[in-house]
Amino acid sequence: MQDLREKTGNSDSAGHPFPGPMAKAEGNRRRVTVLGATGSIGRSTLDLIGRSPENYEIVALTASTNAALLAEMAIRHGAKRAVLASEAHYPELKERLSGSGIEAAAGEAAVIEAAQMPADWIMAAIVGAAGLRPTFAAAGQGSCLALANKECLVSAGKVFLSAVADANTLLLPVDSEHSAAFQAIDRALSHCIERITLTASGGPFRTWDAARIKAATVEDALKHPNWTMGQKITIDSATLMNKGLELIEAYHLFLVEVEQLDVVVHPQSIIHCLVRYCDGSVLAQMSAPDMRTPIAYSLAWPQRMMAPTERLDLTRLGSLTFEAPDENRFPALRIAREALIAGGNASTVLNAANEVAVEAFIAKRIGFTQIADVVEAALAAAVSEIGGQPAETLDDVLETDLAARALAQRLCEMRAA
Ligand code: NAD
Ligand code: MG
Repeated sequence: MQDLREKTGNSDSAGHPFPGPMAKAEGNRRRVTVLGATGSIGRSTLDLIGRSPENYEIVALTASTNAALLAEMAIRHGAKRAVLASEAHYPELKERLSGSGIEAAAGEAAVIEAAQMPADWIMAAIVGAAGLRPTFAAAGQGSCLALANKECLVSAGKVFLSAVADANTLLLPVDSEHSAAFQAIDRALSHCIERITLTASGGPFRTWDAARIKAATVEDALKHPNWTMGQKITIDSATLMNKGLELIEAYHLFLVEVEQLDVVVHPQSIIHCLVRYCDGSVLAQMSAPDMRTPIAYSLAWPQRMMAPTERLDLTRLGSLTFEAPDENRFPALRIAREALIAGGNASTVLNAANEVAVEAFIAKRIGFTQIADVVEAALAAAVSEIGGQPAETLDDVLETDLAARALAQRLCEMRAA
């Protein structure tokens, strides 16, 4: 049987991230850390954990600035330590935790230290490249890393997978499409996979014409039809950049060729991914659009656990529909695929420029369609301005990330003027 991955060498990258060692248990309670505890994924994770607290011991919870919510969560779940990235909010956190016995800390180094505290299972749910250092620190532990932060794989790709492999860490994808693929892939038969199809809801502008999309406001873009998520990923879903980032994520996770990956718009968000094998068989994973299903899968793996999500009622749903993505109205998907094909440091530039452009759009400094414009212009200028060499270390990634941010910032300013 020909191994479909042999063509371009994606199979000889850092090594397949699954399977790794089983999570260790101390007594019957698993030690758990949640990076990005106050976010959408973090809250869903703690919702599941809070339903059977006897099974878990919370080591550390981290957040960016929200001292009130972090302190409340740390007290409710009996965390050992609560950490904010923002030092300015440390006095408030300390005050709110006084007398609780919970350690309070703040600053980027403290978040990284929290990620290094011994734990059996770590949820990496910090949004954006801000999650790189803490997620790498967590990946170095050799335990079980549930990866929601997609920017880490997009920006640091093979460098990140090497860190995971070197530490013998078990990496479990949490992004719903990748969790779905992970569930549908028979790892002994991964060489028989012909195609992996990620589904996209199409976002709030799926049926809008180009002129209307051009005038879309931040409020319009934040109205996702199916999923409730953090702001950044919600905007990425409206541009379809989210699906572009997910193509890159899938490329690294499943070690397939770019041509074996595609995207289909499926407005109901019931099927999350389809895996086609060489005999024509297609395995799909279906569930209500609720992140607690993929999070529960990563928390219980290789078992399953109860998740309190809506159950599918196919007769009530009636029909599931599919359409091809329109890359004229949603160029971000094409731009991301081109960055993946270009290789070098292009995915790092793509991710950084997109984060800057999304922030500029949310701050109402640029228009909706200018997000993709800025990213494309940053990619076009990057090779001559910052070089295109692939990263070998995390520091290389962070250096490119910083330079690409400065470039994208300038491009945003030119458009805002
Ligand atoms: P969110 O914005 O709701 O939460 C982000 C979390 O990161 C918060 O706890 C915030 O305090 C923390 N954070 C932000 N900046 C930080 C910094 N500089 N240092 C430390 N912590 C910081 O985001 P989310 O929707 O929960 O998404 C988290 C990650 O999961 C993203 O990478 C996203 O792409 C991915 N993801 C999310 C969903 C979803 O349904 N929400 C689905 C798939 C993947
Ligand atoms: Mg997803």
